[in-house]
Amino acid sequence: MYFYEVALLNSPLQLLTYAFDKQIQERLVVEVTLQNRSLHAVIIKCCEQPSFKTTLITSITLEEYSSKQLKMAQFIAYYYFCSLGEALNLFVPFNNETLTSTSVQRTKSKITLSSMQLEALSFLKKAPVSLLFGDTGAGKTEIYMKRFEEVIAEGKRVLFLMPEISLTPQMQIRLEEHFGDAVVMWHSKVTKSQKKKLLAKIYDGSAKIIAGARSALFLPIDDLGLIVVDEEHDDSYKANSRPRYHARDMAIYMGKLHSVDVILGSATPSISSYVKFPHYRLRGGHFGSERHFEFEPCREEITARVEDAIVQTKAKGEQAMLFIPTRANFKYLICESCGHTHSCPYCSVGMSVHRKSNAIKCHYCNFSERIPSVCTACGHDMLSSNRLGTAEAVLHFEERYPDIRVGQFDRDAISTQTKLKKLLKAFNAKEIDLLIGTQMLSKGHDYHDVTLAVILGLDNQLNMSDYRAREKALSLLIQIAGRSGRKHASRVLVQSYNRAFFEPYIGKYEKFLDDEKLFRVGMYPPYKISTYFIRS
Ligand SMILES: [Zn+2]
Ligand SMILES: [Zn+2]
Repeated sequence: MYFYEVALLNSPLQLLTYAFDKQIQERLVVEVTLQNRSLHAVIIKCCEQPSFKTTLITSITLEEYSSKQLKMAQFIAYYYFCSLGEALNLFVPFNNETLTSTSVQRTKSKITLSSMQLEALSFLKKAPVSLLFGDTGAGKTEIYMKRFEEVIAEGKRVLFLMPEISLTPQMQIRLEEHFGDAVVMWHSKVTKSQKKKLLAKIYDGSAKIIAGARSALFLPIDDLGLIVVDEEHDDSYKANSRPRYHARDMAIYMGKLHSVDVILGSATPSISSYVKFPHYRLRGGHFGSERHFEFEPCREEITARVEDAIVQTKAKGEQAMLFIPTRANFKYLICESCGHTHSCPYCSVGMSVHRKSNAIKCHYCNFSERIPSVCTACGHDMLSSNRLGTAEAVLHFEERYPDIRVGQFDRDAISTQTKLKKLLKAFNAKEIDLLIGTQMLSKGHDYHDVTLAVILGLDNQLNMSDYRAREKALSLLIQIAGRSGRKHASRVLVQSYNRAFFEPYIGKYEKFLDDEKLFRVGMYPPYKISTYFIRS
C-alpha cells in the first residue's frame, strides 16, 4: 500500500493522508471521499504510513497540474494566506488526453510601427519586467501585437491580461483580424460550453494568444514566451474573494518562474510599478486632438453648466459622457432630524437608494431592505438622500430632456457580456447621445466621437482615507478624459474644489508620480517603513 498527502480542491483544510494500492504520480488529480462526500484532490507527495486509519483514494483522473502551477499555488497559499487546496483550485489543470491541433493560423493585416513605437519595442526587451507608460491613443496595443508576432514566431505563446471590462468585442476583433484563430478570450462571463472549446484550443496548442481577465493566469500553458499586463494600474486586478491575490503581482512572479519577459502597460501607471521597473514614455495620441479642461467648484451636482454643455453637444450631433462614482440613485439615506444614516446591519456602511426596486441596498454584501418611510432611529419622517448616483442622473435627463438618448453604464445596468456588447454597439452607432456611468467608463474602451466628458464627484475619491487617494483620483480623471476627443477636440468639465491639485498634473502624469514618490518615501508602499518611524 502507498500513502499520499493530498490537497483537497476548494477546501480550507490542510493536507490530508489517503492510501492507494498503486503508485501515483505527484500533482495528479484524484477522487477521494470525505465524510461520505466525493471530492477532487491533488497528490502532493508520497509519505510514510501514518499511525491513524486511512481511507482509500477512489479513482485517478486524467488531469494533472504542472510543477510550475504547483509552485505558483504554493506561493499564493503562503503569501495570500489560504490553503493549498484553495490556491490550486484557481488553476485549470493540464489534460493528459492526447489532442491534436486542427485550426490553421492566419495573419491578415500588417502592423507598421512608428519610429517611437519601434524604440519602445526594443526598450521592452531589455529588462525582465518593464513598464510601457503610454498616453491613451499613443499606440500601445500595436507594440504589444508586434511583440506577440515575434513570440509566436519563436514557437511560444503569449498571456495578455486585461481588466475584465476591457475585454471588449473591439479588442477581440482587433486581435482576431491579425492573429485569426490563434486568439482565445478568457473571462468570467464565458459560458461553460464556450470554456470547453477554448480549453481544447489551449490544450492542443492552437491558441497562441491567450487574452483574459485575471483568471487567465491560471490556464494550463507551459510554453509561455511573454506576459503582458495592460492597464496595470487597474484595481480590478486585485481579487475580491479569497484567495485575494493581485493578478499584476502574480504575473510578475509567473514571469520569473517561466523566465519570460513581463510588460506592464498604462497611461497612468501605479506608483509602485513606476518606482520598481524601468519605463518607456510613449507620448501623444495618434489622434492629435486637443482637450480643454474646465473646473466647476461644487460637489456632484447636475448644474446648469453641466446641462448646457450636454445640450450643446447633442445639438451639434456629438456625444457626451458623464461620470459619477456612485451607482444607484443615491449613496445615502439620511434623517434630517437626527442625522442617522441608514446603514447595513452586517457591514456598518451606508446603504444606497435604488428607486427602481424601492429598496436600499448594501453594495458590500447585497443585503437589501424596503426604503423606510420614517427614520429607524428617531421615527421622524424627514428622510433625505444625498450623493447623486448614476440611476438618478439618468432619470434627471430622461425627465427633462426626452430627446437626449441616455445610456446607463454601471454594474446594475451591465450585468452580462451581451449587455456590454449591446450598449457599446449602440453608443458607437450613435444611437445614444449621453452615456452616464461609474468607473466602468474609464476602462480601455474606444469611443470615437465623444467631445464632452463631464466628471462629477471626483473629490469623494480624493478625500478618501487611503494613501493612494491622490493617485486614484488623478488617474481616474486622466483615464476618463482620455476616452474623449479621440478624433475631434473635446471639452472636459470637472466638478471639484481641488483645481489647484489636479490642474498642474494634467498632461504631466510623470510629474505627479515624481512628487507623490516623495510623500511616500519611508512611510507607504512601495517603500519600506523607515526604522525611525517604527521606533517613534
Ligand atoms: Zn432620525
Ligand atoms: Zn452589508
